[in-house]
Amino acid sequence: LVRLRERLARSNTALGRGLLALLSRDTIDEATWEEVEDTLLMADLGVGPATELVDRLRVRVRTLGERDPQRVRAMLREELLAVVDPSMDRSLSTSRPADPPGHPAVVMVVGVNGTGKTTTVGKLARVLVAEDKDVVLGAADTFRAAAADQLATWGERVGVPTVRSDRDGADPASVAFEAVKTGTEAEADVVLIDTAGRLQNKAGLMDELGKVKRVIERSTPVSEVLLVLDATTGQNGLKQAAVFSQVVDVTGIVLTKLDGTAKGGIVVAVQRELGVPVKLVGLGEGPDDLAPFDPEAFVDAIVG
Ligand code: GDP
Repeated sequence: LVRLRERLARSNTALGRGLLALLSRDTIDEATWEEVEDTLLMADLGVGPATELVDRLRVRVRTLGERDPQRVRAMLREELLAVVDPSMDRSLSTSRPADPPGHPAVVMVVGVNGTGKTTTVGKLARVLVAEDKDVVLGAADTFRAAAADQLATWGERVGVPTVRSDRDGADPASVAFEAVKTGTEAEADVVLIDTAGRLQNKAGLMDELGKVKRVIERSTPVSEVLLVLDATTGQNGLKQAAVFSQVVDVTGIVLTKLDGTAKGGIVVAVQRELGVPVKLVGLGEGPDDLAPFDPEAFVDAIVG
């Protein structure tokens, strides 16, 4: 958590400093509020949440006639926290399902290629292994052999087996089914399924992901479908992510590359757009660079 704060602070202080500078001006007029809103939009917060935040803050600052910078900072913190919505359930379901007994928890990881899916599966495996869980990886991105190689490399690094097909273009759903079967036989706790994310063939991809989930669920319920989104791709990435949520019921978002952007507002935008919580954040390329998303730490990183 300390590391999360430090990393986020590095990318988010510009936003916080900008906002606080605006709010500590001698006169806060309509133009100032517009600048505050623009600053929030530049940070990818999204129009709805930005307007909402500014409206609420403006009313509070005006009605209270509040000018003490510390109090204004505290209000900004409260309003930012409100749009991040700390009430959302961000826990990850990685306990074995009650029914059928003896089966592992299955976590599917979906998202556009290049967003950090495979890396996230590797990092998540590491977190689970550190919790003493037995993990099996499934390489259901069978479109590129390199994808399965990359996943297997993560598996070796973390010390968990990877189930993959020995040929390119195998049926992803069969590979996923096999991975879950292997996990069940090995009495594993969690099976993590990496999937393909070729957006150029939208209809095909949709069919494929839906099928992967259906086929897994012939034997075992899917506990989590995590959608990986690259924080640096802004509104465009958000649109692509929305496509995935139309195919599979996404249960949580993993926001990657948050270390590489000052636009942390995308956390708020994606939660609004998809109606699911950001559960994990990626803060670098290394095996330990995955953290649970903590709204308080996130907001503290912005307003300090
Ligand atoms: P996939 O195609 O979605 O499976 O994406 P990969 O897992 O191959 O990741 C694509 C690139 O993003 C790789 O170079 C990763 O090292 C990098 N990457 C993944 N997650 C993060 C992150 O949280 N921060 C940074 N800086 N890079 C990341």
